Amino acid sequence: MSVDWFFKLKEIDSLTKMRINHLKNKSEQEDRVSKLNNRRQDTLMQTAKLRQDVMALNHELAEVEKKLKNASEQKQRLMDMGGDETKISNYQNEINQYEEKGLEFLTQIEEMEAEVSDHKTFLAGLEKSIQEIESEVQPELEKINSEVINIDFRLKLLMEELPADFRTILLKTTAKNLAHGPFTRVDQGSCYFCRYKMSRLDESEIDIQKNLKTCPQCSRIFLPYGA
Ligand SMILES: [Zn+2]
Repeated sequence: MSVDWFFKLKEIDSLTKMRINHLKNKSEQEDRVSKLNNRRQDTLMQTAKLRQDVMALNHELAEVEKKLKNASEQKQRLMDMGGDETKISNYQNEINQYEEKGLEFLTQIEEMEAEVSDHKTFLAGLEKSIQEIESEVQPELEKINSEVINIDFRLKLLMEELPADFRTILLKTTAKNLAHGPFTRVDQGSCYFCRYKMSRLDESEIDIQKNLKTCPQCSRIFLPYGA
């Protein structure tokens, strides 16, 4: 066996790690924009709800004003006819209540409209931030994408070049997501990571004959001396 295959194994492993980092960075960049977009969406929904509420209140206000007008006319008619004082005073009570209610609605409408206007200001600022962040994120994403394409291309070549047994063992070991990566070395007759004791024969097959072997205990791939 040639030590070169082990260099290729190491290269595949480091490219795979780079690829994972790129993808992580990519999703972080995308999150920056999507967080702001979510806030915009929330604010737009809140504004739409407020506008609906204002419309409903305006409708109720119109109803109250109609009743107020009606009560005022009835009261005037009674007074013109020299009608019953109690009835007149009842109408006056009604009028007072309608006026109070109308004022209450007006205040609520004003508050909601102020809130709508606050949302508008906030949205304008947010819109500007989104544009700024997007102009930062876009070139970053393009850079990441082209790097990932290069890595994928290189990985594909390397995997095709590898002998089948190397390919199979690498895929199997990488899938285990071992801490500190899929490789180990013989260190004073033992696996460097898990201290599994190797035989003299194993040791010579790994370091001298450059054979492909994995640790029976931690299943990491042995890199031979010089790789
Ligand atoms: Zn081991």
